[in-house]
Amino acid sequence: MENIEKHIKEISGELPEGVKLVAVSKFHPVESLRAAYKAGQRIFGESRVQEIKLKHEVMPADVQWHFIGHLQTNKVRALVPYVALIHSIDSLRLLECVDSEARRIGRVVDVLLQLHVAKETTKFGLTPDECKELACGYALEKMPNVRVCGVMGMATNTDDEAEVRREFRAIKTVFDELKATQFADCEYFKEISMGMSDDYRIAIEEGSTLVRIGTSIFGEREY
Ligand SMILES: *Cc1c(COP(=O)(O)O)cnc(C)c1O
Repeated sequence: MENIEKHIKEISGELPEGVKLVAVSKFHPVESLRAAYKAGQRIFGESRVQEIKLKHEVMPADVQWHFIGHLQTNKVRALVPYVALIHSIDSLRLLECVDSEARRIGRVVDVLLQLHVAKETTKFGLTPDECKELACGYALEKMPNVRVCGVMGMATNTDDEAEVRREFRAIKTVFDELKATQFADCEYFKEISMGMSDDYRIAIEEGSTLVRIGTSIFGEREY
């Protein structure tokens, strides 16, 4: 637990102005989250609705819960009351579902559009074209209870730094295009969620504003 505090402080200290740390606490016990909280961490990332729900009940109220995993529409209702940011919108259907559940409880929910740029076929997400289509004003006009705040993506899990950098650059390019067009007047469209334990330094160089770090803070996960 001492290590967790140390890691939070080290990593936070390393982040440039404007880059926020999402401590990815999935599969880790609440004691680990408390240690991170004690070190000043307030944003936690989880990938399962049931787990975020349980942890949310026992952690302090000022924690911001970010959902980073693949989200099924049948889990949206349980998540929407307390989630601060959903990083993983990967279909129009999912976005519509979040909008309608948010409307039901009178909330506006912040979300990111997840891009698929990695070589692995297992990673979820939209192609750049699908992303632009989804972000078109026509589709979003009908969804006042979601606020698209940016994009998210994962790079291929590889030692090839140049490839990782290329993929982060592709994410940044889509962000820039959206920022220059559909979201030109939206000050809230400003987040680029990219970078994990193994590649967050590259991600920051390529423009990340939210790094999602688990293993380097909490150690290995037990699945
Ligand atoms: C698990 C996970 C992370 C954290 O990965 P680490 O390698 O442990 O830092 C980040 N982003 C997503 C989407 C994840 O699922």
